[in-house]
Amino acid sequence: MNRRIYLDNAATTGTAPEVLKEMLPYFNESFGNPSSIYSFSRGNRTALERAREQVATAINAEPAEICFTSGGTESDNWALKGAAFATSGAKGHIITTMIEHHAILHTAEFLEDMGYAVTFLPVDEDGRVDLKDLESAFREDTFLVSVMFANNEIGTLQPISEIGRLCRERKVLFHTDAVQAVGHIPIDVKAMNIDMLSLSAHKFHGPKGVGALFMRRGVKIRNFIHGGGQEKGRRAGTENVPGIVGLGKALELSLHGMERESERQRVLRDRLIRGILEAIPHARLNGPGDGGRLPNNVNFSFIGVEGETLILDLDEAGISASTGSACSSGSLDPSHVLLAIGLDHAHSHGSLRMTLGTCTTEDDIDYVLETLPGIISRRREMSPLWEEYERPEKKVRI
Ligand code: PLP
Repeated sequence: MNRRIYLDNAATTGTAPEVLKEMLPYFNESFGNPSSIYSFSRGNRTALERAREQVATAINAEPAEICFTSGGTESDNWALKGAAFATSGAKGHIITTMIEHHAILHTAEFLEDMGYAVTFLPVDEDGRVDLKDLESAFREDTFLVSVMFANNEIGTLQPISEIGRLCRERKVLFHTDAVQAVGHIPIDVKAMNIDMLSLSAHKFHGPKGVGALFMRRGVKIRNFIHGGGQEKGRRAGTENVPGIVGLGKALELSLHGMERESERQRVLRDRLIRGILEAIPHARLNGPGDGGRLPNNVNFSFIGVEGETLILDLDEAGISASTGSACSSGSLDPSHVLLAIGLDHAHSHGSLRMTLGTCTTEDDIDYVLETLPGIISRRREMSPLWEEYERPEKKVRI
């Protein structure tokens, strides 16, 4: 079996050939330090500024509002810690959600340990924040709200414009982790009243280890990485010029065909969802069934099947996908996202995430639909949990 179908585009994507081509000269031809003033380095500074413009254009920001980072995790850390450390006097209050990526959750918990107050908002069964919950969570001392644009496991899109409006009315900073959304769906930081936004190149066919933090002009946050005066004194360290060039190019390319490509993926996504629901009994779709999810995200729970076993079976059949449970986090805990939308442990342990990409074809989807039902039913035949679930009257009592 030589077939390889990659359905883990939310984990990472391959660097596009056009992107790689653009990056290559900056490794060994035009390798000068962009901070140097001689002519050999000037081209590198120009390349950085071009990438800054490409990123700004993609989210309707100004180039001066973009700072390059080492990726989504650093951008998230910077936004939260930078905002917290910029508050003077008493340690105030942050609002975030229970389904954020660990880059936000663990940072918020760290700040909680330092004495800041944090509210982790619950979500409904589709993974959406209720605006009324947000409104009642605001306190006198709330200085920051951080709600992700789109969830990395179940694809749920949040009501970002409404959250932005509520924060702006109260003069509270609004940060969004848009790592899964940028390059995939339209984002307008001005229209959506977003003050800070995190993005990461490797989620849209750029290289790994490079990202950006958008900070609206006038937003005051403390520096996170200290050292030299790069990025106008905001983020120290010699810039990752090839990576930043790749980030800019990848985003420009994604933006170019975004509408067409997201519609194409949406059609394939719905074909996959429909096919699974028709072919596999007791398949539970996680995340919204309506349009409120990322165009490339499919997430199911199959009771009676262990997520990791399923991933290995699919791998053997040539399909790369992921599960929300266990291995990815190196622990046996079920996904915090699936628990937050109300799944019991049995359902959250049997979850499967398939995230489509630019290379996904109709043929790939059909192959998954031919392969997956057999794997699920074989695994269920061996599962005491399934036996109990299917035929509770046969439950063995000792
Ligand atoms: N935030 C979200 C929503 C993500 O999905 C990820 C990566 O999966 C990150 C942050 C971290 O990004 P990076 O891998 O660039 O550090």
